[in-house]
Amino acid sequence: DSVDSLSAQEEFWDTARRHLIRYGRGGFVPAIIERAEGAHLYDESGRMIIDFTSGQMSSLLGHSHPAIVATVRESIATLDHLFSGMLSRPVVDLAAALARTLPEPLCKTMILSTGGESNEAAIKMAKLYTGKHEIVTFDQSYHGVTHASGAATYSLSRAGYGPVVPGNLIIPTPNSYRSVFRKDGVHDWQTELDYGFAMVDRQSVGSLAAFIAEPLLSTGGIIEPPTGYFAALRKKCDERGMLLIVDEAQTGLCRTGDWYAFQRHGVVPDILTLSKTLGAGLPVSAVVTSDEIETTCSDRGFMFTTTHVSDPLAAAVGRTVLRTLEEGRFELTAQRLGERLRRGLLDLQQRHERIGDVRGRGLLQGIELVMDRKTKEPADDYGTHVTAACFDLGLHLNIAQLPGVNSILRLAPPLTISEPDLDTGLGILDQALTIAAER
Ligand code: PMP
Repeated sequence: DSVDSLSAQEEFWDTARRHLIRYGRGGFVPAIIERAEGAHLYDESGRMIIDFTSGQMSSLLGHSHPAIVATVRESIATLDHLFSGMLSRPVVDLAAALARTLPEPLCKTMILSTGGESNEAAIKMAKLYTGKHEIVTFDQSYHGVTHASGAATYSLSRAGYGPVVPGNLIIPTPNSYRSVFRKDGVHDWQTELDYGFAMVDRQSVGSLAAFIAEPLLSTGGIIEPPTGYFAALRKKCDERGMLLIVDEAQTGLCRTGDWYAFQRHGVVPDILTLSKTLGAGLPVSAVVTSDEIETTCSDRGFMFTTTHVSDPLAAAVGRTVLRTLEEGRFELTAQRLGERLRRGLLDLQQRHERIGDVRGRGLLQGIELVMDRKTKEPADDYGTHVTAACFDLGLHLNIAQLPGVNSILRLAPPLTISEPDLDTGLGILDQALTIAAER
């Protein structure tokens, strides 16, 4: 029997090698995942793996949440997909529900499928509204892989694809742990921001349209801009007639302990994009903006008719996600479990010399691994060994995706994870940190 299953596995990987296009940096995780439920993944042998990545950050409510399963079943059987010029109740309901969770003037929504696509639409709207074309972002940004969202992504290599969309500019990511902008040892983010915008002004051709940012950079290394930073950034945008686009693909909908992570920073974006978490595992995304921006764009002929825009099924799922979060008060859950996760990580830092930094918010936390806490030399191979050892022991977590950096681990379990599973995951990480140090 075990010989049979071994040859069946070899055949699986052999077929994968022959027929799949490879697309990621680290290749594929060495397991054939057969099923997933809540915070648990199961491979074909029945081995359980705790999921600290929430799928790819999208399974906010855990895998196969009963309310999502029921919504998909019902929608696919009654109203699956429509011509992009037709409206249905789920779409209007979701748009109105989103507006109720958001501050003014964010009241108008478009439902799409993916994160990159929602940023594509947001960037197009910003260009149409301002009549300008330059887009500014952080130098560790991630907003997607498509045309404009890919051009505004700097945490992936840009090499090999020829020209990107012109007019993309960057400022330094306000990384309090590593920034070279320091005054008396403390991160001097105002000088860093001033410097960034001095560079932007110098390079700009006078057509600054928007700044696009995550309120807590996730793929870019779990970096939350310091208190006060976003208000200062908003001021820079206002002074230049630029819009502020906030991308909450990973942070939105309770994950960080607030409904939206921008709320903590005391700013309101001109355009908000939501994706991953809005679909709880399915491709659902949204662009939300003000009446004024929407009206101007519409008057100027805004065009974004994708196959799946305003899809009833996607919208029904989004509506169920919002309702589930509201009824369960999941922002409180993320706060409570986030505290527990944070305490656990700080405790690990006491015992593992190579944990240089613990950071993040709610159920989106990260640890940065270093060879030496004083020099902060990145412990790259160690990061790779730790994640591999975790997987062997039954925990899946992943590494932040920066070119050439393998030393920042992201911990983002689903909001529905149990306290015992959270603690077990931390225990596995503890063991893995020790095992990997010996490699
Ligand atoms: N924005 C952010 C902040 C993201 O993390 C991601 C995905 N990692 C995207 C956009 C792109 O989303 P998608 O992969 O669904 O296009």
